[in-house]
Amino acid sequence: MPDTQAIYQDLLTHLRGAAVLGSCASVLGWDEQTYLPAAGADHRAEQLAVLAGLTHERATAPRIGDLLAELEGGGELGAPNSAMAVNVRESRHSYDRVTKLPRTLVEELSRTTTLAQTAWVTARKRSDFAEFLPWLEKMVGLKRQQAEALGYSGGVPYDALLDEFEPGASAREIAATFAPLRDELVKLVDAIQGSARRPDISLLSRRFPLEQQRQFAESAAEKIGFDFQAGRLDVAPHPFCSGMGPGDCRLTTRYNPQHFPGAFFGVLHEAGHGLYEQGLDRAAFGSPMGETVSLGIHESQSRLWENFVGRSRAFWQHFFTPAQQAFPEALSGVPLDDWCAAINDVRPSFIRVEADEVTYNLHIMLRFELEQPLMSGDLPPADLPAVWNETFTRFFGLIPPDAAHGCLQDIHWSAGLIGYFPTYALGNMYAAQFFDAAQRDLGDLPAQFARGEFQPLLGWLRKNIHSRGKQLRAGELVQLVTGAPLSHRGLMAHLHRKFDPLFGLA
Ligand code: ZN
Repeated sequence: MPDTQAIYQDLLTHLRGAAVLGSCASVLGWDEQTYLPAAGADHRAEQLAVLAGLTHERATAPRIGDLLAELEGGGELGAPNSAMAVNVRESRHSYDRVTKLPRTLVEELSRTTTLAQTAWVTARKRSDFAEFLPWLEKMVGLKRQQAEALGYSGGVPYDALLDEFEPGASAREIAATFAPLRDELVKLVDAIQGSARRPDISLLSRRFPLEQQRQFAESAAEKIGFDFQAGRLDVAPHPFCSGMGPGDCRLTTRYNPQHFPGAFFGVLHEAGHGLYEQGLDRAAFGSPMGETVSLGIHESQSRLWENFVGRSRAFWQHFFTPAQQAFPEALSGVPLDDWCAAINDVRPSFIRVEADEVTYNLHIMLRFELEQPLMSGDLPPADLPAVWNETFTRFFGLIPPDAAHGCLQDIHWSAGLIGYFPTYALGNMYAAQFFDAAQRDLGDLPAQFARGEFQPLLGWLRKNIHSRGKQLRAGELVQLVTGAPLSHRGLMAHLHRKFDPLFGLA
C-alpha cells in the first residue's frame, strides 16, 4: 500500500525544484530590465533560453506525471479545497499544459522574447513599425504554434493563451462582460467631456525633485504595508513587480521631475502587486497553494491600492500635508480639493499606461478586439497600424499621430504576452467588488485611510485573498468573498460615485 503522504511530499519536492529554477530566470529578467548593459542583451537571451529549457525539463519530468497519477488514483486527497487536493488539481492543470509544449518551442519563445523586446525598444523610440514588423510576425507565428500545441475548444486559439494568465477564462465570456462595461463607460466619458468643470492639471507638472519623489513614494508604499526588508524599489523604463520567491519582491518605477503621478501612482500600483506576493504562504512556495490565483486577481490588488485607495480623497487627507512638506515649491498653498481633482482628471488620450481610471478600460478592450484576429490569422500583423488607428478612432474619437502613440506603445506583444491585456480590465472589476466587500466587513474605510490606517484593509485582503493561494479559481473566489459573480456593475458604481461629483454630473 503506497503511503499517500510520502508520494505527496515527493511531488512537492519536484514542484519546488522547478519553481526555484524558474525564479532564477526571474532574477535575470529583473536585471535585464534594470541594470543590464545594452551590449549584454544577446548573451542574456542565451542565458534565459537555457534556463527556460531547464525549467521546462523539470516541470515536465515524467516523475511528476507518475506522482500525480498515483495521488489521483489513491482517492485520499481530502476535501476539495484542502491543500493537498488543491495542489494536485492545479499541478495537474499546469503539468498537462506544459507537457504539451515541445522544449524547442519553449526555448525559441524565450530567445525571441528577449530579442524582440530589444528590437521593440528601438522601433518605438523611432516610431518605426516596419522595423518591428518582422519580430511581431515571428512572435505571432510562435504564439499560434503554442496555441496549436496546447489545444483549444470551440475553434478559438486565443482561449489557449488566455488560460495561461486567467485559468479557465474564455474570450466569449470576457467579451460578454466587457460589452455592457464598454457601453456604460462610453456614456460616462461623453458626459465628462461635456462637463464645464476642468481640473487644473498644471499642478501635476510643477517641479517635483526626483530624490524627494523616491522618498515620498517609498514611505507611502511602506505605510500601506509593503515590507522593504523583503523587497526593494528600483528604476526601470517599464514599471513592474516581480516576485522572486519568499522574502524577495522587486518593484520598479520611472521618475519624471516634471510630472508627479506617473511614478507615485506607479509605485502604489506595483506595491499593490507586491503586497499580494508578500502575502502568499511562504512555506507553500513552489506549490499552487503558494501561488497567486490569476493575473486578473493580481491586477485587482494593484488597482485597488492605486485607485480605490491612492486616488481617494481620504488617502490624501492623510498624505497631503507630508506631500506639501516634501514638495513645497509645487504644493504649498494648493487646496486639497484641487489636488484631488487634478489626480482624478479624465480625458481621452493615446497612451494606455497614462490613461485615467475611466478611459483605461477602453484601451484594454481595443487590444482585446485586435489580439483575437491576430491569433486567428484574420488580422495580418502588417495591417496592424491601420486597423489600430481605425479602431482607436472609433473608441476615442482621436487619431494616433504615429505608431509610438499607437500600436507600438506596449511591451506586451514583443514579450509574447498575447492574451494578457484583458486581465487588466478584469482586475478593475474584481477590485471594485473586493473593495465593496471589504467596506461591508470593515466599516468606514475612508475614515481609516484619513487617519493613516491601512492595516485593516491589508489584513482583510491577506485573509480573504492572499493566504488562499490557488485554492479557488478567480470566478469562485469573487463569488465566495463578495457574495456575487463577476460583473461590471461594481466598477461602474464606483466610477459614478467618484466622478459624478468631481465633474458635476447628475
Ligand atoms: Zn499591474
